[in-house]
Amino acid sequence: MDITQLSVFENRCLVNGEWVSSIEKLAVMNPVDQSYITDVPVLNEEVIEQAIQDADQAQKQWKNVAPNERSRVLRNWFDLLIRHQDELATIMTVEQGKPLKEAKGEIAYAASYIEWFSEEAKRGYGDIVPSASNSEILVFKEAVGVCAAITPWNFPAAMITRKAAPALAAGCSIIIKPASETPLTALAIAKLGAQAGIPHGVLNVVIGSSAKIGQILTTHPLIKKVSFTGSTEIGAQLMAQSAQTVKKMSLELGGNAPVLVFNSANLDQAVQGVMDTKFRNAGQTCVCANRIYVQSDIYDSFIDKLKVKVEQLKLGNGLDADTDIGPLINRKAILKVEEHIADALAKGAVLVTGKTHNIEGNWCVPTLVKDVRQDMLCAKEETFGPFAPIFKFECEEDVLDMSNDTEFGLASYVFTQDLNQFIRVARGLEYGMVGINTGLISNAAAPFGGVKSSGIGREGSKYGMDEYLEIKYVCLGNIS
Ligand code: NAP
Repeated sequence: MDITQLSVFENRCLVNGEWVSSIEKLAVMNPVDQSYITDVPVLNEEVIEQAIQDADQAQKQWKNVAPNERSRVLRNWFDLLIRHQDELATIMTVEQGKPLKEAKGEIAYAASYIEWFSEEAKRGYGDIVPSASNSEILVFKEAVGVCAAITPWNFPAAMITRKAAPALAAGCSIIIKPASETPLTALAIAKLGAQAGIPHGVLNVVIGSSAKIGQILTTHPLIKKVSFTGSTEIGAQLMAQSAQTVKKMSLELGGNAPVLVFNSANLDQAVQGVMDTKFRNAGQTCVCANRIYVQSDIYDSFIDKLKVKVEQLKLGNGLDADTDIGPLINRKAILKVEEHIADALAKGAVLVTGKTHNIEGNWCVPTLVKDVRQDMLCAKEETFGPFAPIFKFECEEDVLDMSNDTEFGLASYVFTQDLNQFIRVARGLEYGMVGINTGLISNAAAPFGGVKSSGIGREGSKYGMDEYLEIKYVCLGNIS
């Protein structure tokens, strides 16, 4: 598939409304066979500096554009994403590897954030607060300023629109640094943004050395906010770098999601829920089930049912209609999954189905292992691949302790038909998000985010706008 012929294809960066190239280039590869797709610019420090200056000028205009007009521009952008859903999804599958049906789903999901925030653009309400003294307390909400977004490869579209849409809705400008593995989806989305009427300098996409660009974006005084989605290690580093200039931060970091399947669960629903949360995007999602805890009475029957479903998953090129699991993003990802499987088996876990070593290239066979314990690597670290480790538990108290025994706190899942239990357990889980009787929780209308080392701030929902707004208190005195 030659994606360079698609109308939304773009392989130059967008800086202040100009499509910019460079002498130094970065190759973009297809993870299916490591074949070359195209190359993209590696921008130098001077271009990044100029991009920030231009974004600052553009933001001064954009924040004064009427909210209705900002809303209309975002709505145009949403419409264009939907109109070009198939092309965008094809680009994503070719550079990232996920099945085309999932890529189409991600484009719709990414667009839903633009739609949501096109509506929120009109609702940056402040407050008038009753005051005991002879004054009026007025609360204004104002755009933060120039924002920077650094995004990962696992959701090349949605992780961008989840940041850019609220930023633009609030009246901010934004400079996006997408992951080096998946810049083409970002550039295609930006191309549609330009067509939608986003003014020059308000939406920018830069590519290059992540360390160098990250250093500039996190230390530059004109950048007022950094929003990062990626690993906890890099997120903490960016937070430390941003401390010098005391920037507003949003961090969407790693997860280690537990799934709690209680004796009272509807077994078929629980099995489907685990399939949804574990194997989407070949297990490379931050909200992926990482540890599956199953209560003792249903332990064997749950595993039998899950095994049947896992063995039905078809591995292949994401462009093939019947593919369920594409390649992993790179060899490093394969090695981590293999390490987790090998560690579990070496410490006494039992293989139910799958393969303990890879074939060739970036392929990883969906693998189910039972009798896993808390001292194994996969209980502590995010696996980020199609490996499902099953733990047995006896009682609610134990499983809550085991679930919370991690530095992470992003997503968690519970399967139970007991009303009192689900409320107790939802309260007891130290996580930013809890899915009850479902493995699919992402939604533009919901506040997405984590606690502990999984991050700070929320994306999506009415709360997502606040991340790009500052509160200004105005005291109107002597009013009598
Ligand atoms: P990553 O290595 O942290 O990379 C994420 C982004 O940071 C990429 O754009 C990368 O650029 C950039 N980066 C890397 N080193 C940098 C540095 N020193 N300074 C500035 N930027 C730097 O993470 P990943 O492996 O791509 O993504 C997977 C992780 O993201 C997982 O832990 C997953 O759980 C997490 N994630 C979290 C959420 C959430 O909402 N909580 C959502 C999706 C993913 P290059 O690609 O150019 O190196």
